[in-house]
Amino acid sequence: MSDLALSRLTPTPRLPALFVGHGNPMNAIEDNSYSRAWAEIGAGLPRPQAILCVSAHWTTQGGSLAHVGQKPRTIHDFGGFPQELFRQQYPAPGAPEAAQETIDLVRAAHIRPDEQWGLDHGAWSVLMRMFPKADIPVFQLSLDLGRSPRAHLDLARELKPLRERGVLIVGSGNLVHNLMALNPGGAAYDWAQTFDEAVKARIAAHDAAGVAATLDGSRLARLSHPTPEHFLPVLYPLAVADEKDELSFFSESFDLGSISMRSFLLS
Ligand code: ZN
Repeated sequence: MSDLALSRLTPTPRLPALFVGHGNPMNAIEDNSYSRAWAEIGAGLPRPQAILCVSAHWTTQGGSLAHVGQKPRTIHDFGGFPQELFRQQYPAPGAPEAAQETIDLVRAAHIRPDEQWGLDHGAWSVLMRMFPKADIPVFQLSLDLGRSPRAHLDLARELKPLRERGVLIVGSGNLVHNLMALNPGGAAYDWAQTFDEAVKARIAAHDAAGVAATLDGSRLARLSHPTPEHFLPVLYPLAVADEKDELSFFSESFDLGSISMRSFLLS
């Protein structure tokens, strides 16, 4: 880290970091066990100066982007849902200074500033329940799909100092995510539970590299994640944690048979 890095952000006590299984976009507006858990977690957190959200729904190729806009737009990046969901807005301010600090801080990748994105539903569906006043500045960092899980971990480790500069790091994805195998009203598949438990055990062991290695191309991994984007965000909170953090899981259940909603807080 250069001496100049982080000079624009005020030192604070270390903030928690968390991973949220976001699942169905309707969780943004439905009152259910997931949305209630998000509200409860949000209410119990110290107030951040900014939120960095790494969402499954902002993927890029050939590099990572950090959104530096002053007023990130609410992106309704889904189809086939009720109009009420399309009417939702999350008017939180952007966090251009924290985004620029992030760009300056990371050496493992050349992160470029972006002014086009905003907040996708992986970010806003969760944040509107966690921080309903929408008064905390938020910015997103994209997932470069050209990087291996291990390389995401290397990048994410460099974000750790942000925790002591008032930035709450939130990964938003799902530990198992297979939309082709949805089983409405049915139980979770055996393979889904097996993968979820394997990842859980590695998280509990503070084995971030082990978590990254679960996406190993095996049949189990390919069933659990036909594409990697919902898995990769879990590496970000894990990468910025250490043995001083206490781990607590929440929303430990499956939705629609093939979506793990397992989430966790490191604080
Ligand atoms: Zn999603």
